[in-house]
Amino acid sequence: MRRITSKDTKPEIVVRRFLFRLGYRFRLHRSDLPGRPDIVFVGRRKAIFVHGCFWHQHSGCREGRIPGSRKDYWIPKLERNKQRDREHAVSLRRLGWDVLVIWECETEKLHRLEPRLVKFLGPQERSVK
Ligand SMILES: [Zn+2]
Repeated sequence: MRRITSKDTKPEIVVRRFLFRLGYRFRLHRSDLPGRPDIVFVGRRKAIFVHGCFWHQHSGCREGRIPGSRKDYWIPKLERNKQRDREHAVSLRRLGWDVLVIWECETEKLHRLEPRLVKFLGPQERSVK
């Protein structure tokens, strides 16, 4: 069973390592920010969430599909997650933060993420070998 609240989910670690390799430095889980973003770039005022496709309902994604059984249980539960995600993103933006969501399924093809990450974050602090 996948856990919703685990701090160091695998996709998140994958993204973190990748960002580090690209030359970015960041903080983790700033609990003083709405939604406790997974990866935080304080100086840049940018926050990244790495979302599990199921729990956060990645639309159009296979992993985001709601199980056939117990739909009356899952739909409201997952809708609440989605609603919370939206509220967190709105609150962060109001505080002047830029927000990027990376989906779990996207972390399987990291090279495809690179241009998006660089575009979102801007140039790296250090040169990358
Ligand atoms: Zn997905």
